[in-house]
Amino acid sequence: MAYLYDDQNIFAKILRKEIPNTTVLETEHTLAFRDLYPQAPVHVLVIPKGPYVCYDHFAEAASEAEIVDFTRAIAKVCAQEGVKPEDADGYRMISNAGRNGVQEVPHLHVHILGGRPMGRMVAQA
Ligand code: AMP
Repeated sequence: MAYLYDDQNIFAKILRKEIPNTTVLETEHTLAFRDLYPQAPVHVLVIPKGPYVCYDHFAEAASEAEIVDFTRAIAKVCAQEGVKPEDADGYRMISNAGRNGVQEVPHLHVHILGGRPMGRMVAQA
């Protein structure tokens, strides 16, 4: 079954500049902005500009240029935010997908969280 992309999701509206965001990095294929409800001192969302629902959709359907741009943008955000383990105390990357992943916004996004210890990887159910 093919993914159906809902272009009314909040990140699509951010990409169309219908609602504001606090941008930390923009490249040809990628936008990174601060999470509106930060869960750590550093909490940045990195999204591709293309209409991809989640990571496996992106990996299957995006061009190599988009994939390289997105991957490198994540690393640039980590450097800009000062959370790379070689410079500081590191970060956690999370990308939720679907119901079990508890994904709220159906546009691929990677959370970059840092600035404090992140605790256990997965909460106990
Ligand atoms: P997820 O649960 O992985 O889909 O995460 C969605 C994230 O989007 C949450 O961390 C929200 O706080 C964040 N969020 C929702 N609306 C906005 C917005 N307008 N600007 C920035 N972040 C948002």
